[in-house]
Amino acid sequence: MHEASIVEEMLEIADREVVLQGAQRINRISLQIGVLSGVVPEALQFAFGSLSLGTLAEGAVLEIVRVPLTLHCDRCGRSWDGEHPGDLCPICGAELPSIVAGQELRLLELDLEIGETLDECIT
Ligand SMILES: [Zn+2]
Repeated sequence: MHEASIVEEMLEIADREVVLQGAQRINRISLQIGVLSGVVPEALQFAFGSLSLGTLAEGAVLEIVRVPLTLHCDRCGRSWDGEHPGDLCPICGAELPSIVAGQELRLLELDLEIGETLDECIT
């Protein structure tokens, strides 16, 4: 299952960050998912729900930010929101546009809960 390995990798990165920051737990994880990444958001949520159990990410919100497909024509320089990566340029009809966005699959943001620090003692 593709989504499960993505979640595992994501939890590993999050874990490392928690240790680095000295956090107590993870409140929210934001993921950027391009429409071409082939990831099904529902499957990702499901995998996260089961794999995060017993980890510092248990109960955290998994936020999925979808990135639409953006294509760029190398001939006329036009960029547009495409439906398919093989679309022709709507302006000049050139083939094989470059994919500017839509393939993302990355951790965008981690919202960590940093525990009480001694600095908070106000006399
Ligand atoms: Zn063009």
